[in-house]
Amino acid sequence: MNIALIAHDSKKELLTQFCIAYCGILSHHNICATGTTGRLVEDATGLKISRFLSGSQGGDQQIASLIQCNEIDLLLFFRDPLNPKPHEPNDYDILRLCDVHSIPVATNIATAESLIMGLERGDLDWRNIVNPKSGNKQ
Ligand code: PGA
Repeated sequence: MNIALIAHDSKKELLTQFCIAYCGILSHHNICATGTTGRLVEDATGLKISRFLSGSQGGDQQIASLIQCNEIDLLLFFRDPLNPKPHEPNDYDILRLCDVHSIPVATNIATAESLIMGLERGDLDWRNIVNPKSGNKQ
């Protein structure tokens, strides 16, 4: 599966810890992320992550483009709902695209855990049908 990661600044540590905890599962999949989020997770976990531009430079829009092309199978977007900063990605647009394409998306750690456990169980295997480019790493 192709998994995309984005975290607002105040949630980057939480997402990093999440990825450390679920590194064993994530390592079987293709991971991409916005610039800073990807670097932090890569440094902490050793996972190979395809890094896009920083969110402030349009990295979230690069991920949005992949979602538009139905090439992202799961999005973990840890948002700060209380103190979003002006440079941080516009969550409405990217979440709207997930709804357009029925992409599983988590915006907080509780949902992310459910999705990751579901991913491991095979609950998201239907994505292999709607996105032939998905598929686990060998
Ligand atoms: P970043 O992008 O991972 O490059 O920081 C996300 C954000 O801007 O919050």
